[in-house]
Amino acid sequence: MTTAFDLNDDSLVVIVGSGAGGGTLSQELAEKGIRCVVLEAGKRFERSDIENDEWKMFSKITWLDKRITAGPTALTQTSPNLPTWLVKGVGGATIHWAGVSLRFQEHEFKMHSLNGDIAGANVLDWPISYADLAPYYEKAEAKLGVTGTKASGLPYHEPSSHFKVIAEGSKRVGAHCRPAPLAINTQARDGRPACQVTGFCMQGCRFGAKWSTMESSIPKAEATGNIEVRPDSMVLRIEHDKTGKVTGVLYVDKAGNQHFQKARLVAVAANSIESPRLLLNSASDMFPEGMANSSGQVGKNYMTHTGTGIYGEMPDTVNMHKSPVVPGLVSTWADNDPSRGHVAGYELEILHIGLPFMSAFLKPGGWGRELANSLANYENMAGFWICGEDLAVESNSITLHPTEKDQYGLPIPVVYKGNHANDTAMIKHSNQQATAILEAAGATKVNVMDRYPASHNMGTNRMSERPQDGVVNKWGQSHDIQNLFISDGSQFTSSGAENPTLTIVALAIRQAEYIADQMQKQMI
Ligand SMILES: Cc1cc2nc3c(=O)[nH]c(=O)nc-3n(C[C@H](O)[C@H](O)[C@H](O)COP(=O)(O)OP(=O)(O)OC[C@H]3O[C@@H](n4cnc5c(N)ncnc54)[C@H](O)[C@@H]3O)c2cc1C
Ligand code: SF4
Repeated sequence: MTTAFDLNDDSLVVIVGSGAGGGTLSQELAEKGIRCVVLEAGKRFERSDIENDEWKMFSKITWLDKRITAGPTALTQTSPNLPTWLVKGVGGATIHWAGVSLRFQEHEFKMHSLNGDIAGANVLDWPISYADLAPYYEKAEAKLGVTGTKASGLPYHEPSSHFKVIAEGSKRVGAHCRPAPLAINTQARDGRPACQVTGFCMQGCRFGAKWSTMESSIPKAEATGNIEVRPDSMVLRIEHDKTGKVTGVLYVDKAGNQHFQKARLVAVAANSIESPRLLLNSASDMFPEGMANSSGQVGKNYMTHTGTGIYGEMPDTVNMHKSPVVPGLVSTWADNDPSRGHVAGYELEILHIGLPFMSAFLKPGGWGRELANSLANYENMAGFWICGEDLAVESNSITLHPTEKDQYGLPIPVVYKGNHANDTAMIKHSNQQATAILEAAGATKVNVMDRYPASHNMGTNRMSERPQDGVVNKWGQSHDIQNLFISDGSQFTSSGAENPTLTIVALAIRQAEYIADQMQKQMI
């Protein structure tokens, strides 16, 4: 039986968004007996909707509502309306993700203590440490079924030819290549089958071998009878009473009808672009600068990871696509060693993209013999996506466009992203190391890609010890409004060098415990 809750039920938790943060939170709360409504702007996809076709899936699931790309990077020219690559649908960007599941390193929670003030940046320590999060990382690894971890008991994936080529190149330059911990089953587990090695993980896995909230958390939450998921429900604003306490949300359904859903508590998990946008769009007489924004930090400190793509053309066939998307990692430079000319570190992540995306991203807008030759060499390519820490910078931000509105009548977001000098130094260093590995493996030509739309989006509602430095406290609870929480990647205080999802999931599990406790004590 499908659960349905009343719009006037003010005992409910309302969760905005069903991706890594919102989907996980819904399952955790539902399993504790807490009743929730999940409002999701996108439609409900089934496994049968997934196709092994890059562009078809791009048009089917991508968030294509208008956004403006701003800032001095090439992306402003090449993707003026697609600054980020996100999903609109039940499951959010976990439909898209490659499954790489890395813990943050201890030092990444303490970037300010470690490096002090950095000119032009707005770096801050997290209000939690690695030790605070470690037990939740373990729970998250068990939940997602992360390969190579004790928590899941799953072995790593077999090394692909792509992995072997990079591992050999790494060895020759004195670096170490290791298998990637992936939330992709190597054996049947938790009701999901083993990976079939088709290589279309970023289009959504049509077998269900890859963990996603669409595949796992949401159905499990629904099975408790404590959750109602309302797809095609775009939240327009959050409302509050005269004390400032949140009372519910206004949303619009597929037919264009508006509804007000009452709530005891609202958890915003709409991703690092839409979550701050929703808070800014919820400005009122009491909160003229937007909700939860007494610090002025809502929408600020947007981080994406330094992210360059770098692909070598090998003398022989590699067939990099015959593998899960990310078979391995080189973590040799993931530490914080300022003697390299930059603080913080980066992961070199072996990653394949299919020929259709390679044609679009290798040299956006490019043409001619040289590009055609490289694309003709696709089956000989091997390479990386570089995931480097992106420092918090206040001007990197999400703001509301002064005049342009979307289909719901809301100001569209302007996504501004520039590179800090530290990013530029890190990109230079990481490109050199990646090139050296590829050349040591035999590459006759190395292609460096310009930045493509950001797939990792963090910051914009950051956690802080002091209310004046950030938007939420160490539980993701608004410093200003007790019954308002942020439950997605926008809580991140720093980006780390690691892909964000495992940390988002660990934070959501931890947050659910806190919410349940506070509700039980009648504090919320
Ligand atoms: C191609 C690709 C590959 C990736 N690979 C990896 C990887 O290997 N490892 C990793 O750790 N991460 C990876 N990521 C990143 C990861 O998917 C995201 O970091 C993560 O899903 C973010 O979770 P979130 O909860 O912040 O937001 P999302 O997962 O984006 O969820 C937000 C949800 O909110 C909904 N929403 C937005 N606004 C509203 C509104 N106003 N009302 C109602 N609903 C709303 C959206 O439709 C969406 O479903 C990848 C991302 C992409 C795009
Ligand atoms: S490689 Fe594995 S996880 Fe990726 S799409 Fe194929 S079956 Fe799914």
